[in-house]
Amino acid sequence: MQLQINAEHRLDQALWHPSPHFDARPKECWPELVVVHCVSLPEGEYGTGAPQRLFTGQLDCREHSSFADLEGLRVAPHIMIDRRGQLEQFVAFNHRAWHAGISSWRGRSGCNDFSIGVELEGAVAEGYTDSQYRSLIQLVIQLMIAYPQISADAVVGHCHIAPGRKADPGPHFNWPHLMLELHRQLSAFAAP
Ligand SMILES: [Zn+2]
Repeated sequence: MQLQINAEHRLDQALWHPSPHFDARPKECWPELVVVHCVSLPEGEYGTGAPQRLFTGQLDCREHSSFADLEGLRVAPHIMIDRRGQLEQFVAFNHRAWHAGISSWRGRSGCNDFSIGVELEGAVAEGYTDSQYRSLIQLVIQLMIAYPQISADAVVGHCHIAPGRKADPGPHFNWPHLMLELHRQLSAFAAP
């Protein structure tokens, strides 16, 4: 699937589920970083639709006992990639989605200001599907084309920008695979 980011800073191929959980980026602040997260609600159960309801402010926290601590939480990534690799977008890339919380990257705090948040449907204790890696790699490449301030080494986990506080996407996320594929596909782009 060839992905395309349009003039509204949205991915043409993603389902659009607008979230109210965003605001403007600070002036002159453009995406420089991609932050990978994982989510499943309840933890480890897939295809429930509950993460999407959380991100759009429509989750009834009485749905499941484990949702009690989500009451009043106002969060959203820009994009979620489900287990089949399908993409859903909640916030346009030029806006500041509320996904990272207290965080810092290369000495800069407040990563929401300058990052794009990508949630993989998953759990810290589990691995990810080939389809998810394929979609994530295509997404990152398109983001790098649309926002040239993002470099290939500026793709990190939530765990890297909020160490000790966040563990996602977890030890089963295959960083070497992501980085190798990114470099391989980017060098194919650059070849004459
Ligand atoms: Zn996270």
